Amino acid sequence: MSDAHLQFPDLKYLLDKLQFKPEEGKIWLAEQRTVLMGLGALSSFRKEIITSMGMERGKGFFMRLGYYSGMRDAELARKLNPDATPDQAFLTGPQLHCLRGMVKVIPLVLEYDPDKKHFYAEFEWVDSFEVEICRMSLGQLNEPACWMLLGYACAYSSHFTGLDIQFREVECRGQGDHQCRIIGKVATEWPDHEDFSHFFREAPLIDELYELQSRIADLEQTLGYPEDVPKALGEAPPFTSALEMIDRGANADVTMLLIGETGTGKEVLARRVHSMSTRKDGPFVAVNCAAIPPELIESELFGVEKGAYTGATQSRKGRFERADGGTIFLDEVIELSPRAQAALLRVIQEGELERVGDDHTRSIDVRIVAATNEDLAAAVKAGRFRADLFYRINAYMVVIPALRERQNDIALLAEHFRKRYEKQYRKVTLGFTDRAMAALHGYDWPGNIRELENAIERGIILTDESSSITEQNLFNAGWSQTPSVDPKTRKLNQSSGQLESHTPNELLLASLTDQILYNEISISDLETALINKATEKAEGNISAAARLLGLSRPALAYRLKRQDESANGEAEKK
Ligand SMILES: [Zn+2]
Repeated sequence: MSDAHLQFPDLKYLLDKLQFKPEEGKIWLAEQRTVLMGLGALSSFRKEIITSMGMERGKGFFMRLGYYSGMRDAELARKLNPDATPDQAFLTGPQLHCLRGMVKVIPLVLEYDPDKKHFYAEFEWVDSFEVEICRMSLGQLNEPACWMLLGYACAYSSHFTGLDIQFREVECRGQGDHQCRIIGKVATEWPDHEDFSHFFREAPLIDELYELQSRIADLEQTLGYPEDVPKALGEAPPFTSALEMIDRGANADVTMLLIGETGTGKEVLARRVHSMSTRKDGPFVAVNCAAIPPELIESELFGVEKGAYTGATQSRKGRFERADGGTIFLDEVIELSPRAQAALLRVIQEGELERVGDDHTRSIDVRIVAATNEDLAAAVKAGRFRADLFYRINAYMVVIPALRERQNDIALLAEHFRKRYEKQYRKVTLGFTDRAMAALHGYDWPGNIRELENAIERGIILTDESSSITEQNLFNAGWSQTPSVDPKTRKLNQSSGQLESHTPNELLLASLTDQILYNEISISDLETALINKATEKAEGNISAAARLLGLSRPALAYRLKRQDESANGEAEKK
């Protein structure tokens, strides 16, 4: 191989392609618009990228920057040298590097035979701008520093030759060597070629951040409830009977539906179901279906495979997969899109799911606790919710009473929150004034426990140390006319329009009647069951049982007599 073979062609033909058009605000290098940028700015930029992304990611970032540039220069080089020999034409790339002021390239070895698909090259880099940057802002590195130049060399060579070529910087002044030197070979001749090629793949941070964010949310949920079984404070009968239902159902592994207005503490109760079940050591994942845009809900719940849609650059587990072996709480389940409803039904029926854009079926073992503040039966009638799914999740339904139906619990809860926020704000108050307590009882709490909690927190903040919490502190100016239900709650209520027109008893009735009709239970069987249950609860006291049923004592006595007669009649027939 003669020296002449490694001589650069005259630079003039390239210089002719470089046109400064300051009157247009443009610089052209053949077809490429180019900009002049000072090294100082690039240097600060590189430092910032490394600080915010870390060395490995930063390195990949700059290698790809060089790569895109090398790709375009390969195209340019082929166009500029239609008649030159392949290796002479190849040298245009190194020459363009020189022209761009990035580095002086000295070719040491160049063996390129397109027919035999053979490529081997060695170049020396003198005065690399990246070594200069190291001097200016980064200091000496423990590894070669000429990342953009290397990315350029790889892309330029690969695109010029049509072979997959990789260069390594075997010596670099950025790491204290005497010179920068690179060697290029067909990729597969490098033992680590696969790892190296990862540098040229984009690795969007956003997916990683998203994944981390969800994991943190799950952790926070776990840390926020240090007790084994979340406390459910309350002594008022509508609440204690709901709690009894929940505690009994907890271990049955049945799909549970909690019906109640927003702010009634459904998530705490769902967590309680989880903690009291055999799944307690598995994950608990809470999802508010209303908080996720409908177009994302499927991928959020069931996961997504890479390439399922634009932006799905990485495969990701959904909440169901993350809840595997544990419990998932689906709040505002009525907001699920039709496709998500179908997928949920499949999880309940078959115990399996498919990620969005995947054809691989995954088995899943998740207990579902769903919740809604709307009448699901009405949503079924209106065609918004699948009937088959409704009957599946409605199998074990518990109605959580609104706070205004638990008047006796208001003081209890208010005291509980007072202690919590006194601790949080490191403040000791003298408790509620009588007028404040009366106001707490007089208000009807459309936002339920959450609204009460907000009011108490505000009260603690506004009350001076060692003073009493006044009505004014709890319900500050203008508030009693327009209660500050949290904006999310309000939005949901408006969108559903249900809370204003349905009391929980109506919701319960609607749901019960649906179940009764669906299971074809006759009126007389229903009546018998109700009377028996009431008599049992009243321990045989007919007057008390009548009160439970909203009947007079004679009316109940009459029905009992009729029941006995018909039972005897049945017995006689047999
Ligand atoms: Zn170097």
